Amino acid sequence: MKEENMKFGTKAIHAGVDPDPTTGAIMTPIYQTSTYVQEKVGQHKGYAYSRTLNPTRHALEKALAELENAKYGACFGSGVAAIDCLMKMLSPGDEVISTNDLYGGSYRIFTGVFEKFGIKFHFVDMSDLDKVEEIMNVNTKLIWVETPTNPMMNIIDIEALATLAKKHKVLLGVDNTFATPFLQNPMDLGADIVMHSVTKYLGGHSDVVMGALITSDKTIADEIYRIQNSSGGIAGPMDSFLVLRGLKTLHLRMQRHCENGEVIANFLKSHPKVENVYWPGFEDHPDHNIANKQMRGFGGMISFSVKGNQVSEAHAIMEKFKVFSLAESLGGVESLTCHPATMTHAAIPAKEREAAGIVDSLIRLSVGIEDAEDLINDLKQALA
Ligand SMILES: *Cc1c(COP(=O)(O)O)cnc(C)c1O
Repeated sequence: MKEENMKFGTKAIHAGVDPDPTTGAIMTPIYQTSTYVQEKVGQHKGYAYSRTLNPTRHALEKALAELENAKYGACFGSGVAAIDCLMKMLSPGDEVISTNDLYGGSYRIFTGVFEKFGIKFHFVDMSDLDKVEEIMNVNTKLIWVETPTNPMMNIIDIEALATLAKKHKVLLGVDNTFATPFLQNPMDLGADIVMHSVTKYLGGHSDVVMGALITSDKTIADEIYRIQNSSGGIAGPMDSFLVLRGLKTLHLRMQRHCENGEVIANFLKSHPKVENVYWPGFEDHPDHNIANKQMRGFGGMISFSVKGNQVSEAHAIMEKFKVFSLAESLGGVESLTCHPATMTHAAIPAKEREAAGIVDSLIRLSVGIEDAEDLINDLKQALA
């Protein structure tokens, strides 16, 4: 049976991996090697030097591509290293249109690194696609979005955006970190490139930092591999092995993240101290219909604000958590909490932050796969 015909759980376990050709090992070995002996000059078994290609990384790159229903994958030393590769496909004078509540690190590499090389970035509210079209011009080369957005959980209509991008012959890239291929496949909705911070749900165990770019377009893939090999920000074999292992339970973990997310979002919504809860599964979430259309579930990422809107109040609640750990990152088996305004999004100027809804009392939860009852009890005592 061809892998593309298989259901998600089967693919998560089998995609990209074959028994090791030399020993039959069912688990892809950690090929901890920099180079490969050649029989004659230029005659080798497909691997010449591990920056260019390493068998463990190669298996993972194939697995990630298959999970996104795509043809090509490339893995990098971090999510931002994947974005770095993508940006190097652009040239001075090119323009990028992105969302206004972007992951802080993406905002930082755009404005802090690539702006000075002459690439122009626009950050717009993508709930109104007319606004995106308004600023498109001959220099626009890429539309870059996250959906759900971080930390406001806005949903962007990927299919509608893909139609707009195609009309103007602009590439559409989607950071699919929050949804994962279990909940959403942007390429099936018309995106050209998918990016992941593999660090999060794909790795899933908070033990690896890694990024990936995925595409089905041969020209784009060739350019990605050329830059990956030239700039060298690759993922290592040990980390690739850990992610291959993590992927095998992605579907089970995501199911539980979604179940726990729903229970906790509903609990927070009914709590008297809570002002707003942001979770796309609510029927009154402004983008619920789009979420329903393009996602297969609503995930375990939730943000909420506390009445009074004080940083001190938010910090006090977070310091009382016993099961939720106060930490950056998300998507691991353990529940985490962070304070976007002073942690992940501190790099974004206060005015822009507030305009995007990232108020002082906003708390973000990455709901893990523990027992929901314990998570609810933890929230109860912290909010008391
Ligand atoms: C974490 C994250 C990134 C950056 O990935 P790293 O692996 O930390 O470099 C990019 N986008 C989103 C949505 C993220 O959550």
